[in-house]
Amino acid sequence: MTAPVDDLRAAIQRSRAILALTGAGISAESGIPTFRGPGGLWRSYSPEQLATPDAFARDPLLVWTWYDWRRGIIRGAEPNPGHRALAELEKLKGAGFTLVTQNVDGLHERAGSRRVVKLHGDIWKVRCTGCGASSVNDEVPLPELPPRCSCGALLRPGVVWFGESLPEDEWERAVEASRGAEVFLVAGTSAAVYPAAGLAALARARGAKIAVVNPEDTPLDGLADWVLRGLAGEVLPRLAG
Ligand code: NAD
Repeated sequence: MTAPVDDLRAAIQRSRAILALTGAGISAESGIPTFRGPGGLWRSYSPEQLATPDAFARDPLLVWTWYDWRRGIIRGAEPNPGHRALAELEKLKGAGFTLVTQNVDGLHERAGSRRVVKLHGDIWKVRCTGCGASSVNDEVPLPELPPRCSCGALLRPGVVWFGESLPEDEWERAVEASRGAEVFLVAGTSAAVYPAAGLAALARARGAKIAVVNPEDTPLDGLADWVLRGLAGEVLPRLAG
């Protein structure tokens, strides 16, 4: 009998369309706290209390102080072998590989991934709450908190908050790639945040095989053809090799 990791690697080699869905767990080995794991709490606030339009309306300084702190951690972090393995798979598979991430940290791109669908935005972008202008801002720390647009209105982080809809074009790309995937690889996500977590069921309904890479149980395990219990940085390089 082949080990599940070898079996999955063979399936990936055979298949023409692979989708990898990643979450905060893939960046955990780079030292970036996940939302729900240890270190996910900041000054005793949960992300659900900070990453929302209501929290920002109530206290933009508090929310921006948290984002400024997270941007500082991300700035000091490096992509890990998990990110690099997915960039390697993209090189091997070309247009047959799509990476869909819930992460906003940009580490996939820094590892070399190019075909990245960013479902939850980008922590290095800001958007004006007044004039709507969007721009890249990579200053760490920000010189003024909360930051303001040249039009005078408050800027907000260019990320999707709890309760907000996903960017339409990114979502459509993710749905299309899910429908066409032969192997759907879920790495480092608790699969608790919808609609992203629903993509696996969509792929499965179209005949995709599902693989989960996570050190903990996830709600998708029951749907999965392979459940690889382990760290993304250890398991993913064995799939790309
Ligand atoms: P989550 O915190 O809910 O879950 C993280 C998952 O990763 C858990 O299932 C955990 O068991 C697993 N995990 C931890 N270490 C791992 C490792 N080394 N290898 C593989 N798996 C590991 O995060 P989520 O599922 O991404 O939740 C979605 C939300 O979190 C999104 O909205 C996303 O924007 C946000 N988020 C992003 C970042 C980031 O950009 N790095 C960080 C925190 C949260």
